[in-house]
Parts: sequence; C-alpha cells; structure tokens
Amino acid sequence: MDEMGLPFEEVLARLKQFSSRDHHFDDGDIFGSMCTKPHDAAIKAHMMFLEANLGNRGLYPGTSDMENEVVEDVGTLLGMQRPKGQMLSGGTEANLLALWSAREFTGKNKVLLPQHAHFSFKKACRMLKMEAIEIPSSEKYVLDSKVLPGFLEDNVACVVAVAGITETGLCDPIDEIGRILEGTSIPFHVDAAFGGFVLPFIEHPPRFDFDIPKLTSMTVDPHKMGMGTIPGGILLYRDDSFLKGIRSHAPYLTQKSHYAITGTRGSAGVAAAFSAIKSLGCSGYRSIVRDCMDNTRHLCARAKVAGFPCAFEPLTNVVVLSMNEPEYVYKMLTDAGIFCSTSRNPKGLRIVVMPHVSRENIDALVSKIKEVVTCPP
Ligand code: PLP
Repeated sequence: MDEMGLPFEEVLARLKQFSSRDHHFDDGDIFGSMCTKPHDAAIKAHMMFLEANLGNRGLYPGTSDMENEVVEDVGTLLGMQRPKGQMLSGGTEANLLALWSAREFTGKNKVLLPQHAHFSFKKACRMLKMEAIEIPSSEKYVLDSKVLPGFLEDNVACVVAVAGITETGLCDPIDEIGRILEGTSIPFHVDAAFGGFVLPFIEHPPRFDFDIPKLTSMTVDPHKMGMGTIPGGILLYRDDSFLKGIRSHAPYLTQKSHYAITGTRGSAGVAAAFSAIKSLGCSGYRSIVRDCMDNTRHLCARAKVAGFPCAFEPLTNVVVLSMNEPEYVYKMLTDAGIFCSTSRNPKGLRIVVMPHVSRENIDALVSKIKEVVTCPP
C-alpha cells in the first residue's frame, strides 16, 4: 500500500482499466452464466444499502423488515403458507446451511443427491464431513426416482433434488421423490437456485415447490433469474426448528442468534432483491421468462438448421446442443472470446439464454459454432 493516498481521479482511472478488461453482459458474448445484468431498480436499491449489516439486526430494523418481506414474497411464490427463511450470499451458502441443518436435525450423515447436483453440495459434504451418495440419472437426464428407494437406509440425513439443473435447466421429479419419502422423517431439500425464478413463470411448470408436503427446505437465488444483484441467495424452510441445530451465539452483537456462515451480512443484495421483486411483480417475471423461452426456441431452431440439434427439449432457458467434440468447440469459442460451457450428461455445448442474450447474439453464436465446426484450424 502506498504511504499517501491517490487522488480519486487516478483511482477511478485504475478501476476503469480493470473493468475494461472484464467481459460484460452487454457485450453479447456471455452464454454460459446463470447471472445476468441486474434490473435497474435492483442496482439503485443496492447502492442505497451499502452500510447496513444484517448480522447486527438490532441496528437495522428497517433492513430486517425488508429481508422478511423478500422471504414472504418469494416463499409465497414458491408455495409456502407461512414463509420462513433468510437471505444469504447465494446458492452455495444456502445449500451448505441446508445440509448442516439436516445433519444436526437428524444426527445422520449421508446425503443422497442426484449425479448432476451443483458442485456446492459436494463442497458442503467435504466441509461437514458428510458422505455424498450419488443417485443415478434416468434416460431423461433427471434423478431416477425408480432407484431412489433402494438408497433409503438408516443413516440418511437428507435427500436433495434440483429444480433447474445447472447443466441442463431440467427439473428432477420432485413430486415423485416427495411421495417416495412419505412415511419417512428424512429432510428433503430442493435446490431451485436457478429454477426458483423461472419455473413458476413457464407455461406448464412441473410440481416442485412447498406445495409438496415432504419438502423441508429450498434454495432460490435472486442473483440469478431474480434480476437482483450479487450477492443474493435465499434459504427457505418450512419449520423454524429446521435451523435450531446450527444456531451460533453472538455475545457482543445486538442480535444474539446467528444462522448464517458469515457474521457480517451484506444488505445491498437484499435491497436489490426487494426492489427487483416489487418492481417486476409476477407479470414482470413472466414477461422476462417468456422472452427468454422465445429466444431459447429461436436458438434451438437456428442450431438445428445449422446441424446441432438440441439434446432434449428445453424445459427452461438452458440448451444443450448435440455435436461431436463439444469440448473442442467450447475451447475454440472461448479462444474467440465467446463464452459458452459444456454439459456432461447429455454431452454437448451448454448455452444459458439469460435475459441479456438477444436474438442477434444467438444468431452470431450459431454462425460462429458452425464456422468452428466446419473450418477447424
Ligand atoms: N445451485 C444451482 C442449481 C446452481 O446452478 C448454482 C450456480 O449456478 C448454485 C447452486 C450455486 O450458486 P452460487 O454460485 O450463487 O453459490
């Protein structure tokens, strides 16, 4: 660190330099991200709540009520009668807390999770010294509910399913899993980090939310399709007792009971989520999702003509294109400054058609894929 501070113009110039080397959603070359450009109302709200700390709630009763209202709105959207939950830094923290709570609640150690579960679950299992057991997928690329009963044994702390699978956008058979778990006391966590703000707004959504009686907890991220700012995740849970086992005592703060990983908890993402949710309402989200789905169908049609059919019919705005050597195509695109990703099951090039992705961007992408495939170097 320099002894003397710099004039702000110089600092700003440096900041601009850093930012100019980054890729931005407006550039039209980001096709693999599950985050997007936040709603304008979210950006403004974010700037208003930079100092509030939800880890010391007593000082911020207003921010605290705002968080409760976000939980109320999102919980109601996702089928809760009496919404309960807290905002966190994102899907990883929410999934970690869900597994931790399940372990403390049950005193058991095994986590049954789909093969395609987000890597945050295995990370959480490593941190919590829990054993991750993968349930195979069906030929439809979702958890195979037929084989699940064979995995239910005494030491299971939690069953995990995904609504809006990271690599495919598909949804595990959550309704069926709920039925299989009837008569057991095994906690059932649904990771709807991506799907939570998509599935309620598509035309024929699968059953995936708290309407399913066995469902215990759910992750949903405003900083993905919720149009909020980073960081913004939510963990919803049906019963307050769910968090009892992970309570930490904070002797020196206005708020003595803590249930998150971080002590100091940012509030800007909470305000951004509040502002996006209130500004958009269900009709706003429906319209965003409708546009994304229209663009998704446009991509599928264009890609099919170009010789890369979709590996399955998209349920949400995630597409996997079938092609030979998707890893090679991915690398060539990346070298050309175009950022897609790949999917493992099914194998293919993965494209997330987020709100920042336009039809022009899609057309340019399909042309580039064709060029890469037909003219290898
Ligand atoms: N769960 C799912 C289904 C995801 O797709 C992601 C990230 O894309 C996460 C969890 C992790 O979320 P975060 O990156 O906000 O921690």
